[in-house]
This record gives sequence, structure tokens and C-alpha cells, in this order.
Amino acid sequence: MIKKHREKSNRMLIHEAGLRRLLPSHPQYPLIEQEYGKMKYGYKGEEALDYYLTFLPHENYHILHGLRIKDSKGRYFQIDTLLITSTHCLIIDSKYVSGKLEFDEVGSQLIRYKSDGEMERMADPLSQVARHRYQLSLWLEHHGFPSLPIASLVALTHNKAHLVKTSPSLMKKVTFLTNLPNRVNEINALHSTEFLNKKDLNKLTKTLIKKHTPGNFNFLQTYNIKQEELIKGVICMTCGCNLVKKKRKYWTCKRCNTQSLSVHFYAIEDYKLLISTTIQNKELRDFLLISSASEAYNILVSLDLPSVGHKKGRVYMLEHFRISFSP
Ligand SMILES: [Zn+2]
Repeated sequence: MIKKHREKSNRMLIHEAGLRRLLPSHPQYPLIEQEYGKMKYGYKGEEALDYYLTFLPHENYHILHGLRIKDSKGRYFQIDTLLITSTHCLIIDSKYVSGKLEFDEVGSQLIRYKSDGEMERMADPLSQVARHRYQLSLWLEHHGFPSLPIASLVALTHNKAHLVKTSPSLMKKVTFLTNLPNRVNEINALHSTEFLNKKDLNKLTKTLIKKHTPGNFNFLQTYNIKQEELIKGVICMTCGCNLVKKKRKYWTCKRCNTQSLSVHFYAIEDYKLLISTTIQNKELRDFLLISSASEAYNILVSLDLPSVGHKKGRVYMLEHFRISFSP
């Protein structure tokens, strides 16, 4: 059963916000678009995996997606998909890459042969999962759990991925998506000793979820963009312009007339993702292009955010602000 659902990473949400808030003519726009494209591609591959995970050998797997935790030496690591049972864990790293692929185990790289004959060298997913296995074992030890055997698999999730130079030992570590249920079955059959009872299995899953920490990413600093370069205002979800203004109860787009009660929450989310996890009344007015301080105050109060300070100096914490509804 799925214990932690797949979500877009913070980094991906930040890039989406960045593309909304920059003019396409901005010099950094193509680079951000390219980076976002890679993330979207990877996310698609992870989603493709989900279907095959419905064919697991038994019901007692706990499935955790996109888990990011810290090992005992303070290093964060992110596991695409983690399966846990009473007998073992299985780390699955999905690679959504098309074309002819070669796992160069000696040189620790993944080589992709393009149709024009050119070679693209990528980081080796096998070394990465080996590292994650080690880090997870440190984590288990550090948190007082038994040293559960940890298996790993690299799943090739693109339906146009081909392997050149395969070997039986490689195929124990790498699988095509269609064969994933078989490989999970085979790995399951290798582990019969029970390390965790039901209670401990639940405790382990709960602790992993509790320790999950989304990654931080400083958009403005990374891309060397000034805050003033971001497009301000409430963006219309229908036409994409930033001419949405509050008219009595509704936020109304001046261009296409779309009305909404809550579209301004997206602008606040963009502020959180791109600028800061705290906001003051003046900053909200400035970013949402609102002239009235009392209107900004009403918005902030309606969000029910934790805050510190008083009157003009009051700072609202956006850290736990999430949009969980449509505009
Ligand atoms: Zn509009």
C-alpha cells in the first residue's frame, strides 16, 4: 500500500513558479525552461513506474515515493521509490531516458548513443543507488532499526530505451519497466528472514515519513535574477496575464473577465517559492499589486498563518502554506 504519495519536488514547483513569473524574453528563461524540462521528464518516468507497482507479489509492501532524508553524517539523499516489507527494503531508481544505453560499470557512467552517432555521458544510476543503499543502512542504524537487507534496482521507464552490452550481472541491477514486477518477485523470494514485525514495520514507515525534508532551492540566487525582474501581481489562470484585481468579493481578470475567490493564493505561493518563506503586509501589497493595507491585512488574516511581531512589524510565516484547492 502507498504510504507516501508521489509529489512534485520543491525544485520542480519553484521552476514552474519561475517560468510563470519571468518574461520569456529574460536571458535566463531558456536555461530555466531547459532545467524544468529535465525535471518534468524524470517525473513522467516516475509516474510510469506506478502502474507496474500495482503488480507486487503481496499486499504487505509499504511504498514511499520521493523520500528525502538525512543520513547519520548529515548528508541528504532522495530515493525515487522505496518498498519496505518485513524481510527487506528495495530502492527503485527510475531513469526516463530513451535511445541506446550502455551502463559502463568500470567508468561509472551511463552512456547514451544518439541517433546522429554522438555520445552523451550521464551520471551512473548504479553508483547512485549503491550510495543510497549505504546511506539508508546508516539511517536505519542511527534510528535504532534492525539492519534490514537493502536491495536496489534501476528501472528504465522510457518505452524507447534499449540496452547495448547487457550481461546477466547487469540485468540483476537494471530492469525494463515491463519486467519490474518479475524482478521485485525474484528479490522478494531471496529474502525469507523476518526482520520486522507488523508494529515495527509501521514504526519504520512512520519515522521515514516524519524525517522527510523537502529540498531547498534558492531560485533568485541560482539563476542570478533580481527580485525586481519577477512579474508582480495576481496571475489569471485562464489567460495568464497579471491584470487580476479584487473587485468586491471576487478577483477579476481585466483582460478575460475570469472571476475567482482564491486565485491570489497562487501568487502568495509563488512568493513563497521564489522569494521568501516569510511575508509582511507591505511585501504582500507590493507583490500582489494591492494598494490598500487593510485589504492586504484581511488576506493575511484569512490565511491563518503563524506570525511574530505586531502592527507594521508583523511577519507572517508561509512555510506551511500550501494550495490544496483549485481557483
Ligand atoms: Zn484572464
